[in-house]
Amino acid sequence: MRPDPAFPALPCLPCPHQSACCAYGVTVSAEEAASLAARHGEDKVYRSRWGEWRTRVRQGRCIFLRDNECTIHDDPSYPAVCRGFPWVDAETGGPYEFEQTICPEFLSRPELVQLGKAMVRSGAAAMNAPG
Ligand code: SF4
Ligand code: SF4
Repeated sequence: MRPDPAFPALPCLPCPHQSACCAYGVTVSAEEAASLAARHGEDKVYRSRWGEWRTRVRQGRCIFLRDNECTIHDDPSYPAVCRGFPWVDAETGGPYEFEQTICPEFLSRPELVQLGKAMVRSGAAAMNAPG
């Protein structure tokens, strides 16, 4: 069953936390990497030693972040991981089970952490996550 909980709003645009969730770049699929490289430049993505494709990081933020805004938010290859964070796991479509406190809102609003845990427990997630 895939209920459609209304996720709490996060202040993403513009982000008051200098887009902390973009600090490490993001894992992209091979298709997303090829698409992004073709239209935005080969230098924007790389393949890690573990074989995963990732966006490059410059000056502590994903290379696609500019002036605290993602420049590819409306791109057809906007990474699924970014679309799902912090609620939906892009790979499984289920609840996001990784570290959510990369978003500082989760540090200042413990109820968000509790909601995330409850979602994982119940296996509930929706595809229309904010972000
Ligand atoms: S998820 Fe958190 S850190 Fe990322 S843009 Fe939204 S409010 Fe900012
Ligand atoms: S692609 Fe955009 S939203 Fe995703 S990490 Fe990079 S700047 Fe942030």
